[in-house]
Parts: sequence; C-alpha cells; structure tokens
Amino acid sequence: MKIAEAGTGYVGLVTGVCLAENGHSVTCVDIDDRKVALMKAGVSPIYEPGLEELMINNMERLDFTTDYKEAYRYADVIFIGVGTPEKPDGSANLSYIYGVAEQIAASIEKDCVVVVKSTVPIGTNDKIEGLIKSNLKNNVNVYVASNPEFLAQGTAVRDTLHTSRIVIGVEDTIPGNILKEVYKNFNAPIVVTNRKSAEMIKYASNDFLALKISFINEIANLCEIIGANIEDVAHGMGYDNRIGNKFLNAGIGYGGSCFPKDTKALHWLANFHDYELRTVKAAIDVNENQKLKLIKKSRKYFDSLKGLNVAVLGLTFKPGTDDLREAPTLVNIPLMLEDGANIKAWDPVGVDNFKKLHSEGIMYCYSIEETLKDADICFIFTEWDQVKHFDLKNYSKLMKNPIVIDGRNCYDLESVKDAAMVYDSIGRETIHNLEVSLI
Ligand code: NAD
Repeated sequence: MKIAEAGTGYVGLVTGVCLAENGHSVTCVDIDDRKVALMKAGVSPIYEPGLEELMINNMERLDFTTDYKEAYRYADVIFIGVGTPEKPDGSANLSYIYGVAEQIAASIEKDCVVVVKSTVPIGTNDKIEGLIKSNLKNNVNVYVASNPEFLAQGTAVRDTLHTSRIVIGVEDTIPGNILKEVYKNFNAPIVVTNRKSAEMIKYASNDFLALKISFINEIANLCEIIGANIEDVAHGMGYDNRIGNKFLNAGIGYGGSCFPKDTKALHWLANFHDYELRTVKAAIDVNENQKLKLIKKSRKYFDSLKGLNVAVLGLTFKPGTDDLREAPTLVNIPLMLEDGANIKAWDPVGVDNFKKLHSEGIMYCYSIEETLKDADICFIFTEWDQVKHFDLKNYSKLMKNPIVIDGRNCYDLESVKDAAMVYDSIGRETIHNLEVSLI
C-alpha cells in the first residue's frame, strides 16, 4: 500500500517509520526543509529513543519530501499528523490541519483514504471531509477516517509498535477495511466506531489522565500538610484494579504538547456547547498551581533567590524527550531570573531547545556535578535516570548549601536519611539532615 504521512513531528515521523517497519512504503511530507534534509540523511530531527535506528533500518521503504503534490498524488492512504496547538482562548488551532486538507484536495488523482491522526475537536473530521470534497481538483472518491494516536513521548516507538489499541472512526465500511489492512501486522485490539466517538475517545483519554495526575497532586499537597506519605498512599491505592497503579506519581504537574492543550480544548468545546466540564476545569486549575510548587517551597529556606546560585536539573517536561512544550521550567526559570537568581542548568537532551528561548542569563552545564558546584539550592524538574541514579553524597560534597527541592520524587526517603542534605519533595516528609538549621 502506498502511504503518505503529512507532518514529521513526534506523531508523524514515528507513525511513518513504524508503518515502514511493518512493510509499507511511506512518503513523509513536511513543510520544514531543514527537517526533510536531516531525515533524508538518516538523522531524526527529534529526540525519541530508538527512532533514528528504526528509521535507518527502513530507509528503503521511506522517502522524505516537501513536495506534497507528488507525495499525495497516487497515495492509497494519507495520514495527517500535523500539530493542533492551543489558541489564546484555549481552543485548538486547526489551521495546519485545514491547510493539509486543502493540499490533499489539490493533489490527489486517485481514490484515497485520508486518516486524521492529529488530535482534533469533535466534529473536525466532518469539516475536513467537507473541505476536501469541496476543493477537489480531480474526480476521485475520498474517505476521511479518524485514527487518534495514543503514543507518549519518550516511549513513542514502543507505544506505536505495541500499541494498546487502534481506534478507527469511520462513517463507511470501505475506509475501515483499508485501515484494518494497514494495521494488519499490528497485534492490538481494534475499536471501530463513528468519527465523533473516535475523536472523543482521544480527548476523554487524555483528559482522564490529566485528571488522575491533578488528583494525586492534590492528595500529595494534603499529605504534606497532615504528615502522610503520598508514595505509600498511591501504593495502597494502586492495588485496587478499578484505580490501577499507573499515573499516580505525585509531582509538579503535567506538561508537554498534549495534556495542557487537550484539557483546555475539550473544556472550551464544552463551553461552546453551553456545558461546563467541571472535572476537567479542576484538573487544569490544580495543574497551574502545582507548576509553581517548587518556588513556593524555596521560600521556606530563602526569602528570595536574589544573588543565590541556583542549580536546575532537567529542563524538558519529562525524561526521554527533547520537547519543552509546556514544561514547568518555562514558567519557573523566568520567575527565578526575575528574582535575581544565578542559574546553572543541566539536561541531557533539552539544552539546545532551551537555549533558543533563553540564550542569555543561564549557564548551561554538561554534567550534574558542574551544575551543583557551589549551589545554594537545587531544583529537580525532570526525573532523568542520571538524576535518579546520582550519588546522593555528592549533593553535600558539591553544593554550598545542600538544599534539594525535588519536583519529581526521584529518591526514596530511606536513601536520603543518610545524606547530609535538606531534601524537600512532593507529598512527603522533608528530610533535614544538616546540623545548621536553615529553616
Ligand atoms: P509536531 O509539532 O511535533 O509536528 C508537526 C509537524 O507538522 C511539524 O514538523 C510541522 O513542520 C509539520 N507541518 C505543518 N504543516 C504541515 C503541512 N501542511 N504539511 C506537512 N507538514 C506540516 O506535532 P506532534 O507533537 O507530532 O503532534 C501532532 C498531532 O498529534 C497533534 O494534534 C497532537 O495533539 C497529536 N498527538 C501528539 C502526541 C505527542 O506525544 N506529541 C501524542 C498523541 C497525539
């Protein structure tokens, strides 16, 4: 089957490469020449574990181009994986996806199935179909199918090759059967439904996960006040299989390109239909507050960060990705700079992207040791393995004041008990092992 993929971001490129791995010929289209040149040379323009290797292994079935006309002209199936970012009012910006729909209408010369992988508000697939059909240059049949994506950045290749489910939203049996053929080598349950339900499955899934995170974060905040331990609480809750033990890690809230925008977009859509989604609104509000938790905690130790050496470990919104979209550091680091902090920051893959936003005022370091040297306080924003496996003794050896405020609960409290440091994490007792009281 001849497949084209519009957009080569975290979803588009991973999908294209995984379809090639399953034997399809895939032409990946992007408007960004720089990305296309890199991919042609066998270099992944994004950091995603295992992606570049898989891409190189499948080069004979992959093509990369900016020439959408050529790519779409004779395609059997065209996947759309372009971005649907947030607009200032919280609704989804559909201009990229409608742009691709118009390009498809102008290019296709044979019957084809257009598959919407991007996360789109309920009813968008209908609009895309209308847009394509009303702009068609040639007399061909076009079917539009919703096929939302559930991968998570950092594990995107594994999530796609071993997906939890394939959701197919169609209004006709023909596109449904073609998509089943595309996915015939994927060993996953297939849910076939109508397009609106498929679109809703994606939003409801993401918003439910966001809600779960905000819920556990609120319980963690209460644990801190009343002296309970969130990890034990989550552990005890997780044995109930109606709750499950995933996504119960307390921290400084969710970020990334999906949960923040997908909660706001569904809330906006509900409001548009005169319905208030109160649970989703609560998840959004709790998350906004949670992002600032570390700076608030730092006030226990210092009235301000002015003139202090601040070590920042982790810049990305989660480990395993170079993506900074909605990362908590994006709000916290400007506040710290405003406060007069001298910031040293470390991240194994996120520094180049962060430098594009903050080229000045931050000293970027190549190692955790260099970042901690002479620091008055350390903030952990991302639970990279290098941080989790860092020898705790080094905090007191390297820092001027070994005060570590951990937004990701990287260390178990038992291991911190022997380290000469102040360790303040989320939803757990603060460990204060310094002889001099800083509080
Ligand atoms: P991204 O921003 O990483 O990539 C989008 C790509 O589309 C960019 O490379 C851009 O240059 C390209 N593009 C824009 N217009 C184009 C056009 N006309 N033709 C071809 N390419 C074009 O986006 P992403 O993170 O991969 O997300 C894509 C969609 O998938 C979004 O709707 C998102 O909500 C959804 N999604 C994302 C994830 C995730 O973890 N990132 C997971 C599931 C679903």
